[in-house]
Amino acid sequence: MRPTGKLHLGHLVGALENWVALQRDYHNYHLIADYHALTTNLDSSGILKNSLDMIIDWLAAGIDPAESPIFRQSQIKEHTELHLIFSMLITAARLERNPAVKDQVRDLHIENVSYGHLGYPVLQAADILLYKGDLVPVGEDQVPHVEISREIARRFNTQYGQVFPEPEPKLTKFARLPGLDGMDKKMSKSAGNTILLSDPPETIQAKMRTAVTDPLKVRKNDPGRPDICLVFMYHQKFNPAAVADIRTGCMSGALGCVECKKRVASAIADHLAPFREKRAHFEAHPGEIRDILEDGERRARTRAQATMSEVRKVMNLG
Ligand code: SF4
Repeated sequence: MRPTGKLHLGHLVGALENWVALQRDYHNYHLIADYHALTTNLDSSGILKNSLDMIIDWLAAGIDPAESPIFRQSQIKEHTELHLIFSMLITAARLERNPAVKDQVRDLHIENVSYGHLGYPVLQAADILLYKGDLVPVGEDQVPHVEISREIARRFNTQYGQVFPEPEPKLTKFARLPGLDGMDKKMSKSAGNTILLSDPPETIQAKMRTAVTDPLKVRKNDPGRPDICLVFMYHQKFNPAAVADIRTGCMSGALGCVECKKRVASAIADHLAPFREKRAHFEAHPGEIRDILEDGERRARTRAQATMSEVRKVMNLG
């Protein structure tokens, strides 16, 4: 994950819950992609602070660093080394066809794509294959990148000898949570439509008051259409026990949007209460974060160095 600072509900639903569940059955690596952050924003002044904020959110969400190393990409130099080798194994034309980069260029209004931005999936292939990752938990939009990793692994193995697995995407069950501004809008920091995992209950209530609902339910007693309402979607995710009542109340006109939003905001605040408690602990103990990073980076480096030894050996670069 790129270090974007404090995380929001979209990250929780689209990634963190999945990672926490996966750590029971898999050996996971959690990468803070701080080099990747530079592909679309050259200003590096906030990278360290954003990385620390993100680590605290990961830990508060239940990532166990003893099970799964947490580390910064920039601290493991083998990422850049393998990226260089991989960059010889894919054509510029293939990267230019990548729909995920095309989408970013459109969404971020980028006029001239840099060499590094175009090669972002190649660095991502190095991030995955350095640890011989065979499953990559991603949202649908990242599936084309995993496909590029598979192609590069195949090309390397054919050219030099079997070193890498061909990684598969592992899609999340509830991959996308809309932002407060509409069902068709992704929750994102740049859109300003988020609820942060660290938001206190009163902030969650205030933000929820701005949420877009069914435009045909103007007055409280108007019948509503819960299936096109993002507040109802939040109920489904964070308040499942009340979903049947909310649906009936909305459709009959017995329940108004103001009350409906209050209830979902309370449910979200309750859901996040243990998270806020853990977050407060880590904020008060920065030494624990430093130790977690040192340990994670040591373990990741050992694994990365072992892979690079194999790579150099089969390439006669030893
Ligand atoms: S009552 Fe709730 S579910 Fe129905 S339209 Fe209003 S906010 Fe949406």
